[in-house]
Amino acid sequence: MIQVNPLVMVPGPTPIARSIQEQMAKETIAFHDPRFIADFDALVLELKNTWRCDGMAFAVAGSGTMAMEMAVSNTARRGDSVLVCSNGHFGDRYIDICSRKGYDLDTIKAPPGDTVSLEEIDERLAGKKTDVLVVTHVETSTGVELPLFELADMMRLKHPDVLLVADGVASAGAVEFYMDWGIDVMLTCSQKGMGMAPGLGILWASQRAIEKRLNMPAIAESYIDFAKWIPVMKDARAYWGTPPINMIWALAEAVRIIKGEGIGERDRRHRRFAAAVRKSVSSLGFKLAADEHLASPTVSAFLYPEGAQAKDEEFRAAVYDEGAHIAGCQGDLAGAGFRVGHMGNITANTLVSLVAAIERGCLRCGYPIKPGSALAVLQEELVAIGSQGRG
Ligand SMILES: *Cc1c(COP(=O)(O)O)cnc(C)c1O
Repeated sequence: MIQVNPLVMVPGPTPIARSIQEQMAKETIAFHDPRFIADFDALVLELKNTWRCDGMAFAVAGSGTMAMEMAVSNTARRGDSVLVCSNGHFGDRYIDICSRKGYDLDTIKAPPGDTVSLEEIDERLAGKKTDVLVVTHVETSTGVELPLFELADMMRLKHPDVLLVADGVASAGAVEFYMDWGIDVMLTCSQKGMGMAPGLGILWASQRAIEKRLNMPAIAESYIDFAKWIPVMKDARAYWGTPPINMIWALAEAVRIIKGEGIGERDRRHRRFAAAVRKSVSSLGFKLAADEHLASPTVSAFLYPEGAQAKDEEFRAAVYDEGAHIAGCQGDLAGAGFRVGHMGNITANTLVSLVAAIERGCLRCGYPIKPGSALAVLQEELVAIGSQGRG
């Protein structure tokens, strides 16, 4: 049998472009080699400029969860009032992180498949002086997108003193945002919309967020302290923890690809692809977990029809055998459905293979579907949106 890896269609890691793999495979040089220093300095500048950040960008070894902790630890100090809005599993993780730091913590939780509304946020902030608002841009467990532009707009108009922190792990690099919308800290990591291997936390912090950190006394955390990393991000000759050299090169290539496609164009591609996947997979009888108008451009969670839940693991194993790795659901939805990532450096070819593997998985599990029916829907959608079969 030919050994071929399945397509990685979980919501991170995502398929990795050859040119990014090549950066990861390059011969590693010393972090104080002048060639690496030039590359690192150029990357930090590129991150700031591309996402219109007036403060500082950070690229630090670690996963997205580290970046989540880094974002709040530097914007809120013990005793500060922090409001965390949770739309699911990763929002709940943020509540857990914040509950350990001695904040005066408030939370709003949305029912599964929904998001906390701007009205609820507005009302809560109007009722209590708050220092930091924490939201999840795209909640990966249910596949919902918070309208970040509208939220940032509301914050600038009505709550200008509250710092806005957003978890962009399942959006950055795929979904459009710019720091000058009024975002104070945006965080992400390498393995989702950016299309790299896991291992790098990436953050953008506004000038006022940086100022707030620099005006705080020392924080309890060391490795994730902005104050420790700012000198490095300003001039990579400063040493503080060895940078993951090959991952920095890979990120530079990932950003080059993103800029080449264009952030706005990339956002539109993701929205078109996502709509095509939703329409096609739903046609097999799976129900989208998210309210359709909140559905995320990067990840979709589908619920099994009545009676099919029992086969969750069997179904996902069958789809895996058929060549596409999809994910189970998390939290309250565990066992009730499956999730597919459709983000990063993917093409129409990727989606055709994904839907074909899902169909074969259905057939193997005895689900009553007509082979080719979801593919037919997908094909029509892909042609209607101008295919982009070549990426
Ligand atoms: C994946 C994810 C995280 C966690 O990232 P890790 O790299 O797994 O630590 C956090 N938030 C969101 C929205 C995610 O999708």
